[in-house]
Amino acid sequence: MNHQAGRHFLQIPGPTNTPLAVLAAIARPTIDHRGPEFGKLGREVLSGVRTIFKTANPVVIYPASGTGAWEAALVNTLSAGDKVLMFETGWFATLWNRMATRLGVVPEFIKGDWRSGVTADAIEARLREDRTHEIKAVAVVHNETSTGVTSDIAAVRRAIDSAGHPALLLVDTISSLGSIDYRHDEWGVDVTVGGSQKGLMLPPGLSFNAVSDKALAVSKAARLPRSFWDWEDMLASNEKGYFPYTPSTNLLQGLKVAIEMLHAEGLDNVFRRHQRAAEATRRAIRHWGFEIQCANEDEYSSSLTAVRLPDGHSADALRSEILARCNMSLGNGLGPLADKVFRIGHLGDFHDLMVTGTLSGVEIGLKACGVPYRAGGVEAATNYLAGNAGPLAEAA
Ligand SMILES: *Cc1c(COP(=O)(O)O)cnc(C)c1O
Repeated sequence: MNHQAGRHFLQIPGPTNTPLAVLAAIARPTIDHRGPEFGKLGREVLSGVRTIFKTANPVVIYPASGTGAWEAALVNTLSAGDKVLMFETGWFATLWNRMATRLGVVPEFIKGDWRSGVTADAIEARLREDRTHEIKAVAVVHNETSTGVTSDIAAVRRAIDSAGHPALLLVDTISSLGSIDYRHDEWGVDVTVGGSQKGLMLPPGLSFNAVSDKALAVSKAARLPRSFWDWEDMLASNEKGYFPYTPSTNLLQGLKVAIEMLHAEGLDNVFRRHQRAAEATRRAIRHWGFEIQCANEDEYSSSLTAVRLPDGHSADALRSEILARCNMSLGNGLGPLADKVFRIGHLGDFHDLMVTGTLSGVEIGLKACGVPYRAGGVEAATNYLAGNAGPLAEAA
């Protein structure tokens, strides 16, 4: 057996580090998912999770990864041949687009540069052209995990409204929910897609659809084949806290604790903690002399940062070296960014020491790999964190 001493640093942008209290809840014995104890748990998590999406409407919970909830959002709202307007923010937007094609709908992909977010104006312009309302949905990614770019969802809502277009708004929040402020109801989102293993601090295996009244109404006439993903069966069972098939009982036990933890800290404090970690990380990166993949300051992601390495240097070699030396995993570049960028996850359950520890690991790797950098990035981050009191210090 090969043993690496010290705690593993899981600094990929999801799955994230699972707090011990959540792991302990998951480790409790599995209970009867048709029994009274489960009904209570089901009602608690089904109502608790709404506060994270900021919705008064139902949130459907699937025993699946986030990809399953993408599929659920499409098959419950669309029929074969329907047009869907999507925006190429990066790899995850591209995968959702590919899924739409496979399912028999017709996505139209507004081209992006993988360095910036959704342009609401482009969406508005396209919707204005669509006078016969062939486009049935606009589907965008809130936080593009391949690039570290966050899009303005409220602006997308305004664009749809200014165009006077009835399309549904579908939003992927898999890597932003619980890390970056998100408001399903206030922003008029019709289906919000979430996952358990990023800001919610759970292992992979749960995913979510928050559903507006309009989306529910549209789903009655939507004709894409669906069975496992059907909202109707789910919502009928959910009324009493149960599920139409066996739910991920233990993960739901963990979800209950994760929701409690987020509220104990306070969602606004959670978001501020993520902003601080992100800013500290960017200060280190700039000091080192590297470019941040996200081109616009107002679109910087609070949950991860993608770093461009200088030409001629392999991001994958750097990540391997860091894993071998420091027992730390960093995110790889996806699609066309493979080997050109690495991604630092700063989301979920972490504090300042984990931020500076992560950055130290990067600096060790840079030196070991002979990548030219300006020393002192960790210090730049440390100075920022020391001078910028966190939520706990503010509360004290
Ligand atoms: C992680 C992620 C996904 C994919 O979720 P899985 O749980 O891997 O299926 C989709 N979209 C975004 C934005 C993600 O970050």
